[in-house]
Amino acid sequence: MSRADRPASALAPTLASRPPSIDRMAGWPALRPLIARAGRTLVVDALRAWAEARRGHPDVVDEAACARWCEARLAGVVMPSQRRIFNLTGTVLHTNLGRAVLAEEAIQAAVDAMRSPTTLEYDLADGTRGERDEHVAPWLRRLTGAESAVAVNNNAAAVMLVLATLAAGREVIVSRGELIEIGGAFRIPDIMARAGCRLVEVGTTNRTHLKDYAEAIGPDTAAVMKVHPSNYAVTGFTKSVPAAELVPLARERGLPVIEDLGSGTLADLETWGLPHEPTAREAIAAGIDVVTFSGDKLLGGPQAGLVVGRKELIERIGRNPMKRALRLDKVRLAALEATLRLYADPDRLAERLPTIRTLARPASEIHGLAERLLPPLARQLGAALQVTIEPARGQIGSGALPVDLLPSFALAIRGKSLDRLAAAFRRLPVPVIGRIAGGALLLDLRTLEDEGAFLSQLSRLDGLAE
Ligand SMILES: *Cc1c(COP(=O)(O)O)cnc(C)c1O
Repeated sequence: MSRADRPASALAPTLASRPPSIDRMAGWPALRPLIARAGRTLVVDALRAWAEARRGHPDVVDEAACARWCEARLAGVVMPSQRRIFNLTGTVLHTNLGRAVLAEEAIQAAVDAMRSPTTLEYDLADGTRGERDEHVAPWLRRLTGAESAVAVNNNAAAVMLVLATLAAGREVIVSRGELIEIGGAFRIPDIMARAGCRLVEVGTTNRTHLKDYAEAIGPDTAAVMKVHPSNYAVTGFTKSVPAAELVPLARERGLPVIEDLGSGTLADLETWGLPHEPTAREAIAAGIDVVTFSGDKLLGGPQAGLVVGRKELIERIGRNPMKRALRLDKVRLAALEATLRLYADPDRLAERLPTIRTLARPASEIHGLAERLLPPLARQLGAALQVTIEPARGQIGSGALPVDLLPSFALAIRGKSLDRLAAAFRRLPVPVIGRIAGGALLLDLRTLEDEGAFLSQLSRLDGLAE
């Protein structure tokens, strides 16, 4: 018999056992802790969904079960979307995982700036308006030898701003061997077009000579540009023109030379046994007029794009109205200033700056960590999964030094379903991100500093049973 066919009196019991009003349910003691955490509005939304899901099941109302249901439903809402993770991929500066981890000094400076009004654009000595870039420019001048500096949102913005200021409507000469694409849609030809410049390609993919540049310079040329091929290496029969040769040619023709260093660094990586990566100081010393590089790659600071170079050019760049749209806020400027200050004390840099500390970490130390972690991990995973210590090769990442080169050690886990295993690690309270290679889930330990936090959550691995 359908509902409509029933006599009216048959409906009465159904109505009587309908769930209580949402308002009344929101007052249940079982829901109090959830309301304290998530707020009443979100809990009321969850209660509505609960009542909807139970429509037509007018059984006994169980407050505790309802609270559990709402809690599970709100878990995804109450949890922040951007979460802390363990990056055990072997790529130290992973763009998708937020690149550089900041130094404590930078974190503190950023937090202080967040909490209070600051002297962002204020000169305390005179009580007059100041310049926001003046918090970092003196450090950048000191660390690169450049006459002047400005900072913007990221390096892509820096390149765009430089090109738009110095070469809009005119030609910029770039070697075909340096027409790079880096992840996230940064391609030199596209950036040129967006900046309103005409790209003039010279040379070939593998070889570009000084005469190629010389022949391409014409009345419409505004600048010559070099781009550090940061995420690939062309080897074999190759030739590119070093700044030392390009600069005299450009000077003779009255043109500025721009260089996009990409990662760029302010320290000699060889100091810590790493391969050489071009420094901003070397580019300036070679006579490059304007150099751009990232704040959150090898430099180890917050996301930023740094532009250093000749005073009159940097002043023009700073006056471009686009600069206003690309400027840094007080929080990142505070973190950047604190990071740059660490470079003034190179002896303690590896200790204080996580990026350098992680890159310089000796393989023997990583091996020791692997030996400590293997027994508890193997115990937790059980006999169906095998855990071993394997040599691994990590990367700096973010375009620096593209070839695999960081000798490291990984915990390698082998078993039936690696995807399921990787997913279980991603479900941990602090998700662990590894990489699957060679039939194993690899957890590269170079970047693991908080050993205790890693160990303490292993008992929560679930869904491993095959
Ligand atoms: C990374 C990189 C960029 C872009 O820098 P962002 O800071 O990510 O904007 C530009 N050019 C080169 C050569 C790079 O390596």
